[in-house]
Amino acid sequence: MQRDLHRLSSQNFDVLIVGGGATGAFVARDAALRGLSVALVEARDFASATSAHNSKLAHGGLRYLRNLEISLVRESLRERRGLMRMAPHLVRPLPFLLPLYGAGFAERAKLKAGLTLYDLLSYDRNRLEDPSQHLPGHRWLKAGEALAREPVLAGEGFEGTFEYYDAQMYSPERIVLENLLDADGHGAAIANYVAAGKLLLRDGKVEGCSVRDTFTGDSFDIRARTVLAAAGPWADLFLEQATGEATAHKLIRSKGIHLLMPQISQTALTIEAGSGHLFALPWRGHTLLATTDTEFSGDPATAAVSESDIESFLATFRKYLPAAPLGREHVEFFYAGLRPLVSDGSPKKETKDSYNVSRRAELVNHGAEGGPDGLFSALGGKYTTSRGLAQTVTDALVKKLGKKAAPCSTAKTPLPGGRFDRFEDMVKGFQKTWPGIASLRNMAHMLGARLPEALKGVRLTDLVPLGPSGDTPAQVRFALEQEMALTLEDVVMRRTSLGQFGKPDPAALEMVAGMMAAHLGWTADKKAAEIASLDRLYRVSA
Ligand SMILES: Cc1cc2nc3c(=O)[nH]c(=O)nc-3n(C[C@H](O)[C@H](O)[C@H](O)COP(=O)(O)OP(=O)(O)OC[C@H]3O[C@@H](n4cnc5c(N)ncnc54)[C@H](O)[C@@H]3O)c2cc1C
Repeated sequence: MQRDLHRLSSQNFDVLIVGGGATGAFVARDAALRGLSVALVEARDFASATSAHNSKLAHGGLRYLRNLEISLVRESLRERRGLMRMAPHLVRPLPFLLPLYGAGFAERAKLKAGLTLYDLLSYDRNRLEDPSQHLPGHRWLKAGEALAREPVLAGEGFEGTFEYYDAQMYSPERIVLENLLDADGHGAAIANYVAAGKLLLRDGKVEGCSVRDTFTGDSFDIRARTVLAAAGPWADLFLEQATGEATAHKLIRSKGIHLLMPQISQTALTIEAGSGHLFALPWRGHTLLATTDTEFSGDPATAAVSESDIESFLATFRKYLPAAPLGREHVEFFYAGLRPLVSDGSPKKETKDSYNVSRRAELVNHGAEGGPDGLFSALGGKYTTSRGLAQTVTDALVKKLGKKAAPCSTAKTPLPGGRFDRFEDMVKGFQKTWPGIASLRNMAHMLGARLPEALKGVRLTDLVPLGPSGDTPAQVRFALEQEMALTLEDVVMRRTSLGQFGKPDPAALEMVAGMMAAHLGWTADKKAAEIASLDRLYRVSA
């Protein structure tokens, strides 16, 4: 995938997508697979905003059953299976325990009913080729059995726990990237670090958008018959800037923080905490504590984790898991994300309680509301349901364009790395080809069936892990040549996960930055600046 700005500025596209998070990337792939000519611009890097800073769950959203959002849960469970099918290397089953402490019969019966419904709504969950992707139904574990499995659950009044299954993303960033790679393979023109500005309009009709290359500051126009705003937490701000008018489609931005800790349990823990819930999620040998839900009203680019966020979040967890080592000194990494939630027009209720605002997505055809003809927005939603949202959006684009297009095929077409039958068989095959390489399993998750292409002509030294993530120089080289990585942060946070387990070792950073300098022609100053700029990811905000 190459960043071809000349092509972006010279071709006339069916659709220009603004935003390269999950929403934009899934639409780009769907539209390109159906034969539309597609352009996509991302102001920063792909999946650098909400699509990276989430809980990494491909889930049905058990808790939405409480609000009786049955159709949202069913849709999410269907899409969970879709993700497991299209990216079996990146989306894997995850067992959860839901412990009860002095809850009593009625609460236990209520949860049992909810979990039974959750199983029923995912009746087709095991229609997947690979048995290692199958998800058992829920069951009850008595206190003794549960504590033998997860001693950290010990606490006053512990009765036992329900076990149920959902799925987890190994790297949400790479699912976005693989969608873009597939879109690119089907003719889409894609660029990161290009920000969309004002719409180009003629007689009220969209003709494209003016954009700016954020590296050079150069502006140019992209011509397109339709424009889709897929700008996540920036969507309403983009719409106002693009049209020069106030938008009726305001978002609620809700901040959620996550803390990465040494692993405290093998199984995910769902903790009923007052009116909400918390997760302790095992992820790649660590535990991810998730998450908070507070309204955020500042500039989305400034969402960050403060020291008091960390302290109060840890204090909450300590209350529910007193036996777990959850000191400030155990925090290895932290990040904040903004949920772009669709306002239902009752601001008072929402500002108090963004936790209970629906995670439903909304497609807006602005032309049908008296706005620019050919402008669409995809607002809100969940990562898990991005593919389904993309299908709805692409249907609307095809209709608007009046084009004959192929039917949607994304539900059944694996992503480029997902083109294999069974994950463990694929790993075994790799181990035969490259015996004794400890980093292979991680690379198999990160690259899937693309691994052989990435390892063409590598030396053994390219396969030595650069840090606890298990990522290697071979992946860095592949990211530079094939995956449009342009900054050090792109490589360590998104093409690999080198920077997601705390600040990488200085020698590893020096090596990666050196490879990038050689590939991209950086000066020594530029290289030093790239290394220094990573520091901000590991600092708390004031
Ligand atoms: C704390 C938290 C936990 C979550 N946990 C889960 C979970 O476990 N499972 C789940 O399914 N969902 C989860 N979600 C929701 C999920 O992450 C989001 O629904 C999804 O990532 C949204 O993707 P997006 O593409 O719409 O937004 P984003 O990923 O934010 O992408 C929007 C992109 O648009 C770009 N952009 C903005 N303005 C412009 C412009 N003018 N020009 C060009 N580009 C522009 C931005 O740079 C950004 O990259 C969670 C969200 C949060 C915040």
